[in-house]
This record gives sequence, structure tokens and C-alpha cells, in this order.
Amino acid sequence: MISKFKTEILIATLLLVTLAVILANKVVVRSCSLLPQNAAKVMSGDDRAWGGTSVSSAEIDDDLFRFTYDVNGKSLEKIYSLISISPGEDFPRDLSWVDRFEITCKTTRQGGEQVFFYIKDFEPTISIEGDYASLKYNETLLSLSDKMETVTVRPKDFLVPTWWQQSYNAKGKAAEVAFKNVTLFEFNVNTGGEGVIEIASIQCVGNWVDSATLNQSLLWLWMGGTLIGLVVRTLRLKKRLQDKTVSASQLQAHNNLLITESATYHELARRDPLTGLFNRYGLEAEFADLSSKSSFEYSMLLFDLDKFKEINDNLGHCYGDRVLFDVATIVRSKLGDKDIIARWGGDEFLVILSNRSAKQASDFAEEIRQSILASDLIYSCSFGVCKSEADSNFESIFSKADAALYDSKNSGRNKISSYRKESGRRAADRHTAAVPEITLLPNDLPTGEFTIYE
Ligand code: GH3
Ligand code: MG
Repeated sequence: MISKFKTEILIATLLLVTLAVILANKVVVRSCSLLPQNAAKVMSGDDRAWGGTSVSSAEIDDDLFRFTYDVNGKSLEKIYSLISISPGEDFPRDLSWVDRFEITCKTTRQGGEQVFFYIKDFEPTISIEGDYASLKYNETLLSLSDKMETVTVRPKDFLVPTWWQQSYNAKGKAAEVAFKNVTLFEFNVNTGGEGVIEIASIQCVGNWVDSATLNQSLLWLWMGGTLIGLVVRTLRLKKRLQDKTVSASQLQAHNNLLITESATYHELARRDPLTGLFNRYGLEAEFADLSSKSSFEYSMLLFDLDKFKEINDNLGHCYGDRVLFDVATIVRSKLGDKDIIARWGGDEFLVILSNRSAKQASDFAEEIRQSILASDLIYSCSFGVCKSEADSNFESIFSKADAALYDSKNSGRNKISSYRKESGRRAADRHTAAVPEITLLPNDLPTGEFTIYE
């Protein structure tokens, strides 16, 4: 619902409704007529009550209201003659919606005449029930023709005479023209002479809704529409924010997973899956890390299991795997923090002994050799040892250790050969021993879990 909401559609709807209401109010005209049918009472009045001599009378003849007057100001300063028409029950008292009053009438005076027209309103703060003089005078001047014609007056043509305002101390709203509670309509002649005024009809015509109410209603409509638009937009923004927060946290979770997986795969790529030792790639990275420190000296130990093929052939590859794993475990248990061991390939292992002299390295090789022999494996290995030189790189040390290992193998196996500079490419045997018979059978396998080191 909220997602389908479009501000443009809301604005277009408001515009259409506004136009439709304005047009409808112009087209649909509202009217009511005081004469001939809605007059409850017609009264005439003149200045005789004040000692004057003017006379007036009112009669109805063929739906015509006839007002006969003779205004003769013999003795009074203020002379007049008038008729008052009070509306009947069905006539609306509130005429604030009226746009114009249409009075169809004529005078018998040659060339026409001007008479005062009053619409008297009950002003709640001033007027007293039954006291006609206290009704507010909405006054205008009508120009009557000597032919039957319709005279139109609009609310803006009226005023409240100052004598009435002063008499009743009317101020503010009370002194303004109003048609809220219309009580009397009055025609007043105060120019001398006699005549007859015939009134055929008095019509009140206006729009269905008065302009003030219409403007206020449209204002409310637009304010309501704007409020709805704002609320919907706020809710939509809130929802978008929530969605974004959710997807951001999902993204973060995926990211974390990727980081963890990437670290796992990185570690797996550096390890030999069988023994858990570093592979060549892992060794290179570790060695690069160690050797980046200045004054890094080391001895390299390369060793290979003797006649390992026979193990596979006689006892099976599973058993061979077990031997590789156990040899790796024995050697690793003897290394220090800064030493590195890697499975170089097949049954060949490479050990970097940090800060160890050639002799220390050979002693360490001997310790391993004996440990493996003394273990349940009762198995022999051949070793090649070489000490790093200040100007030698990894490859050259490796080729020398490899040459020493080759010597061990060639001279009967189960030996440790150390590469010595003064003796050239040939390595000198240091520790020797006879290659033991393989006495282990599969049933003699050491117990314990065969796990990969993390
Ligand atoms: P030598 O004394 O000359 O080293 O003789 P050897 O039989 O050990 O010969 P070599 O080192 O060349 O043979 C290595 C053998 O190791 C060959 C291969 O079948 C075996 N091998 C290599 N990788 C694995 C492994 O992951 N598991 C098992 N079970 N055997 C392996
Ligand atoms: Mg071998």
C-alpha cells in the first residue's frame, strides 16, 4: 500500500478535486425567493408617529406588492414612508451564502427614483427580541426604474450606517455587514412626493457553498492531503532505512564468513593434509618471514625415509601414511618456536633450525634419527645437513643439504651427512648405523588418533 503511493498522484487528485468543487459550486446555483411566496407579514410605516404627515400603505394585487406613499415633510426634519417585509418560516435566516439579491420592481414616478433598501439582521451582541430598531441595518440604495426591471445588489454594496453603529455602540464584527440571521427586508422612501412602488419578486441567489466556507474547506483538503503525503513518505523512508540496515548487516555477516573462509583456505593451502606440516608453499612463506629479520642464521636439515617403498609394498599405503604422520609428529615435538618443518614431498622432510651451528644441527639430526629408531616405528632415515652462509640463498643451501642427503643414501642409509665447505661438494659422514630390518606388522600400529595439525 505504502510502496504504491505516489506523490504525483496525490497532488493530481487534490488538484482535480479542487477544480471539480470550484466548478460545481459555480454551476450548482442555490436560490430562494422572498416574494411573492415567502413573505409572512408586510407592514407599512411612516413619520406620523413622530408628528409628521407622510402616509404609506401596502397591498397585494395579482402577486404584485404595491407600496403607496405620500411623503410630505411639512413639520419634521426627518420624513419617511416605508414598508417592511418579514420572511416566513420556510425562508432561510442565514443568507451568508448569497451572492446577489435580485429585486424585480418599478416606480410610478417619472424617470425612476432612489429608495433605501435594508436587510435587517439580528446581531446577537446588540439586538433585542421584538425591538425592530435594534436590528442591524444592512443598508444600500436602489435605483428603481419606471418600468418593471430587475435591480441587482450584492453583499459588497451594503454598509452599516454610522448612526446605527453610534446608537448601539457597535464595534468590530458587530459593526460589519452580515446576513447571518435575517429578520426583515425594508424599502424606505424619504424624498418628498407621492408615488407607488410595485414589487414583483425578491430573489436571493448564491453558490451552494459560500466562498469563505469553500476556501476554508479547500484549505483543509490540501492540508490533509499534504499531511497524508508527509506521513506516507516518512513511513516509506523509515522502511527503506530498515531494509538498508538489514542488508548492511547481512552483507557484514557474509563478509565475516568470507574472511573466515579465506583465512581457512589460506591456511589449508600452506599445509600438507596428511601430516599437518607446512608444504613447500607454506615453508617459503614462513622462511621469508623469518629471514626478513637481519642476522638470521640457520642450518638446514633434509631427511628422507629409507626404503619407504618397501613399507608401502609390504604393509600397504595406509600403513605408509601412518609412518609418515608419526615421523612428522616425532620431529615436530622436538622443534623450537623459531624452527620450521615442512614435508618437502613424498617421504622427504625439510627442517630449518634457527640460529643453529652445523654441529648443533648434526646433533639434532642424530637425536631425531635415534628417536625414530627407538619409537614403535623402529625405522631409519637418512639425513643431509648444511649451515647457511652470509652470502648464500635458500636454493644454494638446499642443493648442498640435498647433496649431503644423497651421500647418506649412497653410503648405506641411516646416516647423517653434513656438507662441509673445505671438502667441496662431497659431504662427510658423521653418524652411521646399519639399516634395521623392518619388524613392524600392521597389528603393531601405535594407538592414538591420526589427526591433522591445525
Ligand atoms: P630410498 O631409501 O632410496 O629413499 O628408497 P625409497 O623406497 O624410500 O625411495 P623413494 O624415497 O624414492 O620413494 C618414496 C616413496 O614414497 C615413493 C612413494 O610410493 C611413496 N610415497 C610418496 N608419498 C606418499 C604418501 O603420501 N603416502 C604413502 N604411503 N607413500 C608415499
Ligand atoms: Mg625414501
